[in-house]
Amino acid sequence: MTDNGDPESSNDTVATARKTLYALIARLPDELRAEAVRVGYDLRKRCTESGGEKTLGDYARGTVPVITLYVETIREECVEQGSDSQREIEITYLHEFGHHLGLDEGDLVKRGL
Ligand SMILES: [Zn+2]
Repeated sequence: MTDNGDPESSNDTVATARKTLYALIARLPDELRAEAVRVGYDLRKRCTESGGEKTLGDYARGTVPVITLYVETIREECVEQGSDSQREIEITYLHEFGHHLGLDEGDLVKRGL
């Protein structure tokens, strides 16, 4: 089966992002790690909502809260900016996790997220 919408590298991008995410969660302090494992995560190639072309990540509250990372969009932004996409995966995850913990955009910017 071929995926017409995305470049062939996409599956690798998702697999690499998953490894990066697991490694990040493993490095979190105990209390935060315990909270992070309670949050679901969803690795998508890109946000398909209108106006979501540049969206890197999302956080949705629910019975099980879910952090979504748009890994192909993150990868492309990093190629454009010459930045490290694994680092950007981490920053985006921590940003959304920060929302889960109740921080707003201003709080997150102050923390470099
Ligand atoms: Zn945010």
